[in-house]
Amino acid sequence: MQFTLPQLPIDIQQVKGFMDAQEGAALHHYAAQVAERGPGLEIGSYCGKSTVYLGTAFKAAGSLLFALDHHRGSEENQPGWDYHDTDLWDKAADAMDTLPFLRRTLRAARLEETVIPLVTRSTLAARFWTMPLSFVFIDGGHTFEAAANDYRCWAPHVQPGGILAIHDIFPDPADGGQAPYEIYKLALASGLFEELATVKTLAVLRRILV
Ligand code: MG
Repeated sequence: MQFTLPQLPIDIQQVKGFMDAQEGAALHHYAAQVAERGPGLEIGSYCGKSTVYLGTAFKAAGSLLFALDHHRGSEENQPGWDYHDTDLWDKAADAMDTLPFLRRTLRAARLEETVIPLVTRSTLAARFWTMPLSFVFIDGGHTFEAAANDYRCWAPHVQPGGILAIHDIFPDPADGGQAPYEIYKLALASGLFEELATVKTLAVLRRILV
């Protein structure tokens, strides 16, 4: 499937991140379909690239998007790993800190009245969560434990008719890590979700109406 690139309030190529333009366009497209039903949530905001694709759709619908990230970087973002970026290192904390970059992105994209950053771990944010969500985008840690936690904690909150999107799906292990693909298979096997589309490494599922 091909998706029209949405009009975005900033030059998205200037935002650090790993979201492909076609995948971003698909996120925007499906978020726009459900955003009026209630708020959405993304897990793994990093510097806000996917947040802009999603947030712009939620803003147009007069809705809200929660942007969940501990902002200390995933395993592959740490020093010595392939996806480490030295710009994102906070010397005083001796750790990654992507939060200032997310704030900058949200301000530039005029999304501060739409996107609510949640600066914490996924499992902690989920502990007392009861709010139904129109859209959940899982793009957090890629270890099996992290991906399974994200699925277990957040998939139940997707409203019937709502969307569950998962990034970095690689059916062939030679192409990439298997944790996102495993939770994608769990979602389909649950009988609660049906597949709407796959766009490159993005899978878009819909919670079945019951
Ligand atoms: Mg990703």
